[in-house]
Amino acid sequence: MKTVQYPQGHVLLRNLTKVYPVVSHGKRCVLFDHNGKSYLDAVGGAYVASVGHGNTWVVDKIANQLAQVAYVNGTQFTSEPTENLANRLIQRASSLKMDRAAFLCSGSEANEAAIKFCRQVCVDQGFKSKYKIIARRPGYHGNTLFSLSASARPAYQVAFGPMLSEVFFVSAPLGYRSPVSDYEKEGPDYYASELEALIQKEGPETICAFIAEPVIGSSGGGAIPPQNYFKKISEICKKYQILMIADEVLTGAGRTGNFFGCETVEWKPDVIVLGKGISGGYSPLSAVLVKDEHLSTIRDHTGHWMHAQTYLHSPSQTAAGWAVSQYFDEYDVISNVQKLQNNFQERLKKELSSFSFIGNVSGAGFLAGFEMVSDLNTKQPYQASLGVTQKLLSLAFDSGLILWPNQGHVDGKNGDLLMLAPPLNSTQDELNQIIDRLVEVLKKVQL
Ligand code: PLP
Repeated sequence: MKTVQYPQGHVLLRNLTKVYPVVSHGKRCVLFDHNGKSYLDAVGGAYVASVGHGNTWVVDKIANQLAQVAYVNGTQFTSEPTENLANRLIQRASSLKMDRAAFLCSGSEANEAAIKFCRQVCVDQGFKSKYKIIARRPGYHGNTLFSLSASARPAYQVAFGPMLSEVFFVSAPLGYRSPVSDYEKEGPDYYASELEALIQKEGPETICAFIAEPVIGSSGGGAIPPQNYFKKISEICKKYQILMIADEVLTGAGRTGNFFGCETVEWKPDVIVLGKGISGGYSPLSAVLVKDEHLSTIRDHTGHWMHAQTYLHSPSQTAAGWAVSQYFDEYDVISNVQKLQNNFQERLKKELSSFSFIGNVSGAGFLAGFEMVSDLNTKQPYQASLGVTQKLLSLAFDSGLILWPNQGHVDGKNGDLLMLAPPLNSTQDELNQIIDRLVEVLKKVQL
């Protein structure tokens, strides 16, 4: 057994003052460190481990591909895993009418590629004045300069202000904090009219694309939009010829109970971005799904899609996506989520309702978030300076439970959320263990 203290060699760790445990191995939703301590990974690291840790079924398939060929450049070759994965994703997206998939490494770069794709479509359609992007507040689309610009995360942006691009924001629907009294009935019109007012103000001839998560991940604690929200938003975007990008980096690959979060919320966007769970962490992988109608515009004008990176369509990554995709089919992973999701969501709501500092629990499928508030009646958030999220996160980690934090969703500064996203192949027993451990941790909380 080895205890490693900071500085742990020469790795530039994210937190420069923290001692990180060194992971040794994992199995399903459990991780072990070098000191023999075990952790229930209730969030797949960062919503990534969709088929659990140490999944040898997946690993063997990837190893076979790596032994054949690990890398070719996407401008020179295509490959079997890339073709197979694209075909299966497009098949899964049949109700959303997507035609082609491109593969990259991370959610941030895939969102940037999607935004660039939309801009190129506008230019090739002859609408050169359309370049502005509308995103939502709260929201997160990544950490590279443009995806960060499109993310309403002041704390992440603070040092980079002069380097960021101008992006325009509308309110994201958060049921718990909506200004309308009847969220389901009045919500869609309320949020759609805010969007339309912004488009009018900026000039429809300048707006290129709207980007949103179908169900809000970390930024909104698993908030679900009102039923007709995306219907109304889509009507407005179509009216003004604004392309719609669904950022499914977090919600895609089964997380909300359907393969695409767009199916869960009945949204038919123009572009879909996937990441995280599609490769389950077995390789960095993201995807951009697009329609032939837009590609044919590009084909007839520029002639080629103006985006390529070293790892575009690389077989080492698509092998992981293809192996995970086959695992989904072999073990009927989506049906597993559909079978267990109600019990997971309801038990979580029931157990957390007894804590006086938890104001809201929401989510879909195997994605759930809960919000800590200082007053249940007024929904008053804790002062950010109290660091409530971080305290609970550390308490949970020390107690062997891994959650995902977010702070600031209420006003950019205050607002405390913790998230769960267990592997999609979790059993009822594993889900119960996670909730039991969470309840044990919450009982120790003193605020
Ligand atoms: N979009 C959403 C909704 C995300 O949750 C994330 C990451 O958490 C990203 C984009 C960025 O993905 P990545 O960290 O892989 O760049």
